[in-house]
Amino acid sequence: MAAALADEFAATAAQPLPVLTLAERAAAAVEKWSDRAPDRSRRACRAGCAHCCYMAVSVTALEALWLADRLRAACAPEELAAKIEQIAATSARVSNLTIEARAAARVPCALLGPDGNCTMHPFRPLGCRGWTSFSAELCAAALAAGEPGHSGPCDRVALAAAGSVTEGLQRGFRAAGVDAGHYEFHAALLRALTHPDAAAEWSCGRPVFSDLPRVVSERLR
Ligand code: SF4
Repeated sequence: MAAALADEFAATAAQPLPVLTLAERAAAAVEKWSDRAPDRSRRACRAGCAHCCYMAVSVTALEALWLADRLRAACAPEELAAKIEQIAATSARVSNLTIEARAAARVPCALLGPDGNCTMHPFRPLGCRGWTSFSAELCAAALAAGEPGHSGPCDRVALAAAGSVTEGLQRGFRAAGVDAGHYEFHAALLRALTHPDAAAEWSCGRPVFSDLPRVVSERLR
């Protein structure tokens, strides 16, 4: 499944890049395969459970551009300005942290609502879609300890679906001559929201995102 899914998206992304359509298709593919996982009923993930929303997330430019588009569509100008301010403030705190330091900081994602739900759930990054857990207790313990997730059981099918679609997209971006980098989520979203014509420029191969920080483990620094 994983290789076929990656190949499908590599082929799709090599066409002239229809940014929003491609992002929607990528998210739908992850959902479709994730929904078919045989162990789906074992997942502990529920509305209002947000332990993983304090961890590092990385995205392609495509995912950031899609979310930026949906935020612009959903928010009145003042509300959008407030969101951008919040994303910028969170980015300043977390974008340059290692995976381990990000978890230890226990800073919530800027899109996490006060009720523990993602305020942009239908448009959330592929990595957020792929991460599931079979134990909310282990997730809670990892967050309380400031650790980057737990090593307990999760749904490997959902994880593979998100990873395969991301890999396929990145292969297609490289083939199309556009930046295929994976960047820290808040930094990328902020850039997508504030850079004029970010989608058009990125899809023409301009380096709109390429100076942004990447999510790395402290073992690699
Ligand atoms: S984008 Fe949504 S699901 Fe992903 S970390 Fe942020 S609040 Fe959580």
